[in-house]
Amino acid sequence: MPTETFEFQVEARQLLQLMIHSIYSNKDVFLRELISNSSDALDKLRLAALRDDTLDADASDLRIEIETDKDARTLTVRDNGIGMSYDEVSRLIGTIANSGTAAFLKELREAQDTAGAEGLIGQFGVGFYASFMVADEVTLLTRHAGESQGTRWTSRGEGTYTLESVDDAPQGTSVTLHLKPADPENQLHDYTSAWKIKEIVKRYSDFITWPIRTATPTPPAAEKGDQEGDQEGDQGGGETGGDTGDAAVAAEPETLNSMKALWARSRDEVSDDEYHELYKHISHDWTNPLETIRLQAEGTFEYQALLFIPAQAPHDLFHRGHQRGVQLYVKRVFIMEDCEALLPPYLRFVKGVVDAQDLSLNVSREILQQDRQIQLMHRRLAKKVLSSVKDMMNSAPDRYATFWREFGAVLKEGLLTDSDNRDALLAVSSFATTHDESEPTTLERYVERMKDGQNDVYYMTGDSRQSIENSPHMEAFKARGIEVLLLTDPVDEVWVGAVAQYEGKSLRSVAKGEIDLGDGEEESADEDREKREKQNEAYADLLGWMSGHLGDDVKEVRLSSRLTVSAACVVSDAHDITPALENMYRAMGQEVPATKRILELNPDHLLVKGMNEGFTERADRTGLAETAELLHALAVLAEGGQPKDPARFVKLMAERLERTL
Ligand code: ADP
Ligand code: MG
Repeated sequence: MPTETFEFQVEARQLLQLMIHSIYSNKDVFLRELISNSSDALDKLRLAALRDDTLDADASDLRIEIETDKDARTLTVRDNGIGMSYDEVSRLIGTIANSGTAAFLKELREAQDTAGAEGLIGQFGVGFYASFMVADEVTLLTRHAGESQGTRWTSRGEGTYTLESVDDAPQGTSVTLHLKPADPENQLHDYTSAWKIKEIVKRYSDFITWPIRTATPTPPAAEKGDQEGDQEGDQGGGETGGDTGDAAVAAEPETLNSMKALWARSRDEVSDDEYHELYKHISHDWTNPLETIRLQAEGTFEYQALLFIPAQAPHDLFHRGHQRGVQLYVKRVFIMEDCEALLPPYLRFVKGVVDAQDLSLNVSREILQQDRQIQLMHRRLAKKVLSSVKDMMNSAPDRYATFWREFGAVLKEGLLTDSDNRDALLAVSSFATTHDESEPTTLERYVERMKDGQNDVYYMTGDSRQSIENSPHMEAFKARGIEVLLLTDPVDEVWVGAVAQYEGKSLRSVAKGEIDLGDGEEESADEDREKREKQNEAYADLLGWMSGHLGDDVKEVRLSSRLTVSAACVVSDAHDITPALENMYRAMGQEVPATKRILELNPDHLLVKGMNEGFTERADRTGLAETAELLHALAVLAEGGQPKDPARFVKLMAERLERTL
């Protein structure tokens, strides 16, 4: 097959431009990315060989080699891992699969300053393309394990790349960077220096479980014998050392990393930096994690877990696409990526490693889902993550605030799905509140602030803080200074239906059921009740007639104690589903019968009083009937709903306005 030239996908081209012009200041990380890819490729080969013993691949000496050539100014990272087929190269290297890329690039274009742009790149990670920060040309030669044809990919990063089939490629992948010209001002960035390479590997990739070795360039045939060491079985040539200078001096291959699994080392032996680099390898994130969580379980079912909470939510947290969650190892051997059996879905943002001692290397996802030990592990890990969040809340409020901003909406899914951990989840949750505009509150704080005689925790769900705060349902709470939690995440509509209590206090919606806050502090409960009874009596006829007139549009018409300003509002019965939830179900394609609402009238409002005056004696009730309809429509509008018959509503309204002229 001849060499063919292709164009990069638009997003890939934009990203490459950013890399070439290097908006990321720490260029050393390109090597970490290449090593990380090689390490993944070796993990995959080992697994493939384990599962398929007919696989025509050598899995006996799996390793990563780094070769430098000062004269040619090249650096090669080579592995004998799974490799890529021709199609895989064009799919994986020519395009960017990540669903968040387009959104990310848009943000990046909008980021004015370089520091902002750097932060974004760090958050996103760019993997293989990071090579173009230091190289003006990159060649990748690869052969997929078990296949005979190899593939060569080359690019200068400027819009196009070439692809070519090759006959004699070794198994695995080698990536050769032709380094940009040396910067005489800055010797620190000489990536042909053995010392520099060693330093980078130590810093970023020490924990990689495969050996990372140095290797010197394979000498041209005529010079064979000038070098020794990694040329096993080399028969040619007598003298060693010779005259090739630098390369020959560094000829001894050396393993640069300790290969020790961090989770198997004792806690005080491992620095935060080391944990952070492992996190970056696992998550493909370039930013440090917010929190590192360790767990060592001993006893009959032994395992170690090293979990991380990222500092930022990924772009696709709510579209169940590809997630890199927790990796499963068995006795230090990588078994699977994103092992969803280990943590509940509401903790899907947690990354890390779990290494179990007593599982079979052949364990499958299906078996894991059913395994009792795994279920116990799942429970314990979830508790551990929640208790770590609780600790963070107490000892590092700023970090907790970040956590909640990024992941709160996901965590709250657990309030619905994980009744075992409901209390623990409630304890680490925060909510926007009428008490404080800028900071959310915990339930614990809310309860501390509760008024004398207040027994319930009040909340209201809605689209935004503003729409809730302006809703008629809030009037009495505002007037009496009673705090209300403002729940605006879509998931809030759902979990509030499942959680009845917090520490013995009922959770109550201000827009549901009967609310009786009393009239004021001076009156006793008895006086209060008496007053209500009197009012109900006085309005009984009007209420009865209105219920009849509005018919199927309402469940009931009654007097309200939650209104101080508005004439009317609609509320749901205590156990009915809310209109927002109804809409959510419909959006998901489910059939839901429309739930009738209750119309509440404010007995102290002039309009309502006026309607009641001389009601029983009135013979012609046409005008009154229209007022009743208008009142209902206005109440529906006030909570963000739609009047049943908008055209009729507009007509009636216009007629009324005309009369005011
Ligand atoms: P990421 O590692 O986050 O997926 P990269 O840009 O680093 O992104 O790599 C893209 C993909 O190319 C990898 O997911 C992998 O499938 C493939 N790849 C890269 N390097 C290698 C390698 N050395 N061996 C096999 N496949 C590789
Ligand atoms: Mg990668």
